[in-house]
Amino acid sequence: MLAHVDMDAFYASVEVMDRPELKDRPVIVGGGKRGVVSAASYAAREFGVRSAMPIFQARRLCPQGVFLPVRMERYKEVSRLVMAALAGFTPLVEQVSVDEAYLDLTGTQGLWGPPRQTGLAIKKSVLAQTGLTCSVGLAPLRFLCKIASERDKPDGLTVVEEVEPFLVTIALREVPGVGAKAQERLKAMGVTYLTQLRLLGRQRLEDLMGAWGLRLWDLAHGIDPQGVGGERGVKSLSHEITLEEDTADRELLASLLLGLCQKVCRRLRRHGLWGRVAVLKLRHADFKLVTRRTSLRRPTDRAGELYPVARALLDAYALPGPFRLIGVGLAELSPLGSGQDILFGREANGRSQALSRAEDAICSRFGEKAISRAGALETLGALDHKRQDRHNQGEGEK
Ligand SMILES: [Mg+2]
Repeated sequence: MLAHVDMDAFYASVEVMDRPELKDRPVIVGGGKRGVVSAASYAAREFGVRSAMPIFQARRLCPQGVFLPVRMERYKEVSRLVMAALAGFTPLVEQVSVDEAYLDLTGTQGLWGPPRQTGLAIKKSVLAQTGLTCSVGLAPLRFLCKIASERDKPDGLTVVEEVEPFLVTIALREVPGVGAKAQERLKAMGVTYLTQLRLLGRQRLEDLMGAWGLRLWDLAHGIDPQGVGGERGVKSLSHEITLEEDTADRELLASLLLGLCQKVCRRLRRHGLWGRVAVLKLRHADFKLVTRRTSLRRPTDRAGELYPVARALLDAYALPGPFRLIGVGLAELSPLGSGQDILFGREANGRSQALSRAEDAICSRFGEKAISRAGALETLGALDHKRQDRHNQGEGEK
């Protein structure tokens, strides 16, 4: 299941939150060089004010409106809180604008429950962390999520369990990327709903609109190969430790590595993901950063499998150091169980899987330090007071 999260009248809502006396008043944010409306509160929309409309026109429609300039820095600040809230649900978050993101929730059912429950949890978390409402659409296909999130605005939640019954309700104007001109041309041919395109035929659509026509043909048949992430999505997950004192002690580094592997894997398991490439990161005392990576025989989410590989990468790194940072990660992430023979990959290791799960449960109850395998225990404990521990969810270090 995928989700699209879209903040409601975002700029205007931030302004109202910062200035509660504006509540329920028609607030219009915009102006600047382009002289157009960037956002209109729902009260302003009742006057017919819309995004991208020239400001002078908005003033004519709504003379009593509160017109405010764009404060992008402030919106970005709130945007970071939104994205942080979303990152709590899955590491596979693709931010597409300051107030919009797609989430891949594959494998998170066990954690967040069925789609509707997950959608409610997302809305609740965003509200708690930002004070603002959002609208959420959940669907098995990316483009349906976007359409679904628009359906019930503001403060909406739309869940598409089955594709076909929803597909036939979609008007062409709802499909992202279908502009006014295309709508007009298709309307002239009797097409106002997406699935009516099926009657036109693939070739006709291609002749009319080229590659875009073929894409529409696919959408009309419930085909959308675009997942969440694409080139911009999170492809790796890592943890690292910056040491306050540089060290060249390989044994010390190795035991830190073990603790880091555990953290990485715990987090992956929490999100129902596994990774196929192990990444070791070392920063020399002179700040030079090196990464070493190697493919695993099969994807994993377990420290017992990641650690020996990361350790081998460390042992193979010839320069003596000293180092000021060590980190480890897994890259080429995918939903648990994908791309592998389940029988050989997982079930043969049922016991250590169960062990990992038990460890996860204990950690979530008592915090990270409650449990740690022997090697990591002492070293981490000893260094605890003088380290900076960070986790990263990056775009995959190249
Ligand atoms: Mg929005």
